[in-house]
Amino acid sequence: MAIVNLSGVRKSYGALTVLRDVSLAVERGAVVALVGRSGSGKSTLLRCINGLEPIDGGEVVVDGRRVEQNEASLRQLRQEIGIVFQSYNLFPHLTVERNVTLALSLVKKMSAQEGRAVAEKVLSQVGLREKMAAYPEQLSGGQQQRVAIARSLAMQPKLMLFDEVTSALDPELKEEVLKVMEGLAREGMTMILVTHEMDFARRVADQVVFMHQGRIHEQGPPSRLFAEPETPEFRQFIASTL
Ligand code: ADP
Ligand code: MG
Repeated sequence: MAIVNLSGVRKSYGALTVLRDVSLAVERGAVVALVGRSGSGKSTLLRCINGLEPIDGGEVVVDGRRVEQNEASLRQLRQEIGIVFQSYNLFPHLTVERNVTLALSLVKKMSAQEGRAVAEKVLSQVGLREKMAAYPEQLSGGQQQRVAIARSLAMQPKLMLFDEVTSALDPELKEEVLKVMEGLAREGMTMILVTHEMDFARRVADQVVFMHQGRIHEQGPPSRLFAEPETPEFRQFIASTL
């Protein structure tokens, strides 16, 4: 059964329609790459999945529960869905460990000791076990982004959303972040990611979804989709990424 199910999702900002009848099922453990030109609605789609944006029509169901705009539902959802953005938004005045454990103590009421154990585990997962006591400014952009990923993992999400998490990074720093994401995928994490890294999408994604003007224009396994793009829009998009 799909862990994320969107059916007929519509979303507008005033007169601007951003999502038009978007339907998408994501299987548990699947990696779905959302690709498409800037403004095609990718970020909005991600934000609708975890309730950061209310939708105007259709429905979003995550793990069998309909996403509703009420406090209880959203609070629950945010514990279950990790989201990582291009900007890492770490607290500069807190250590790496504290950045990772903050939500654990505030939301999950974990003790400092329990929190530390979780921090050790997730920071190991992203290769930063030795940076527990460091402050964000002492880390590279790639390392800060890996801390942001670890902070999400600490909440033991059922689903991870990534919105262009490597876009602000230099090429060599991109790689270390992509490697972490590839590891997560291999361990079976369900992931929906917006990315411009086509090689990564080809290699790691189970499904690639090409968004165009607020619609899913093409979708399928990368092996087929990239080899045999069906529409001129997707062909053009692929050409623009080469
Ligand atoms: P993408 O991530 O594919 O670049 P977005 O989902 O960010 O696309 O944006 C889709 C469209 O919606 C764009 O035209 C953008 O300007 C518009 N948009 C996004 N967020 C808002 C907002 N909060 N208010 C008004 N317009 C928005
Ligand atoms: Mg975007």
